[in-house]
Amino acid sequence: MSPSITVRVPAKVNVQLAVGGRRADGYHGLATVFFAVGLYDEVTVAPADRLSVTVEGTDAQHVPADPSNLAARAAALLAARHGIEPSVRLHIAKDVPVAGGMAGGSADAAAALVGCDALWGIGSSPAELAALAAELGSDVPFALLGGVALGEGRGELLTPVPVSGSFHWVFAVADGGLSTPAVYTECDRLRSLRGGAGEDDVPAPAADPALLAALRDGDAVALGAALGNDLQAAALGLRPSLAATLRAGSDAGAIGSLVSGSGPTCAFLAKGAEDAASVAGALAASGTCREVRVTEGPVSGATVVG
Ligand code: ATP
Repeated sequence: MSPSITVRVPAKVNVQLAVGGRRADGYHGLATVFFAVGLYDEVTVAPADRLSVTVEGTDAQHVPADPSNLAARAAALLAARHGIEPSVRLHIAKDVPVAGGMAGGSADAAAALVGCDALWGIGSSPAELAALAAELGSDVPFALLGGVALGEGRGELLTPVPVSGSFHWVFAVADGGLSTPAVYTECDRLRSLRGGAGEDDVPAPAADPALLAALRDGDAVALGAALGNDLQAAALGLRPSLAATLRAGSDAGAIGSLVSGSGPTCAFLAKGAEDAASVAGALAASGTCREVRVTEGPVSGATVVG
C-alpha cells in the first residue's frame, strides 16, 4: 500500500470583491465573498528524505518547483511549528489556471497543509490549520473551508455564507497571467486620479446585502446582477483585451459576468446547464480567450481523496 496522501482542492471566484483604501501597512481592507468552484488542483504528499516539489499540467512551467512554491512553504511552516523536518515529496497536478485570479497557489498551500498534517499524524484542529493558512496568504484559509464565505480583514477572516442550490459557471481563461500586486497598484493609481486611494478617501468595504440574499435564495439572476469586483477596472486597464472577453460572454446570454479576483480569468454566470454550454461555445468561438471551462459550485474545500 502506498503511504502517499492525495488532497483535492478547489479554485475560487470572488462574487464580490470590495476593496478599501490603501492602508499605512500597504494592504487593502477587503469585504469579499469567496465562492469555491469545481476546478481543482490535486496535491499528493509522500515521505521523502527532503522537501521537494514537482508540478504537472498545462501551465506547469509557470509554477516554481522549488522552496518558493506555496505548497512547499506550507509544508515547511507546518513542520517548523511542530519541530519536525519537512521530509516530504509534494506533487501538484495543476488544473487551476496559474496567475489567473482563481487562487491556485493558495489552494495548493491549503492542500499541502491538510496532506502533510495527515501524513505526519499531527492531527491539527481546523482552527489550527486556519491560523497557519492565514500566515501563508489571505486566500489560503478559504481554500481549506470551501463553500461560500465572506472574507474580511485582508480576506482571511472568514464567515460562512448560507447558499441554496448550485450555480452554473463558465470561465474564460486568458493567455498569460496578471500579477496581483500590479493590479492593486493600478487600482490605487486609478483611484488617485479620481481624488484619493487612501483609507480616508475610499468607503469602507462592506458585503452587499442583495448579493447575500441572492445566494441564500439560490437566485441566479439576482446573483448575476449583484456580481461586483473593485479590481475589475484595474485588470481591464492592464489587459484591455478582457473587455472583448466580457462582452462575448454577455452577448451569448450570461446573466452576470466579471473578472475573477485580480484576473485575467473572466467568470460568467449562466441560468442553467444548457445556457452554460451555449455561453461556453460562444466564448470558444469568439477567439477572445485561450480556454473555456464549465463548472458548478459551491463545492467543498481541501479534501483528502486518496
Ligand atoms: P490570487 O487570486 O490569490 O491572486 P492567482 O490565481 O492570481 O492568485 P496563483 O495561480 O496563485 O495566482 O499564482 C501566482 C504566482 O504565484 C504564480 O505566478 C507563481 O509564480 C507563484 N506560485 C507559487 N506557488 C504556486 C503554486 N503552487 N501554484 C501556482 N503558482 C504558484
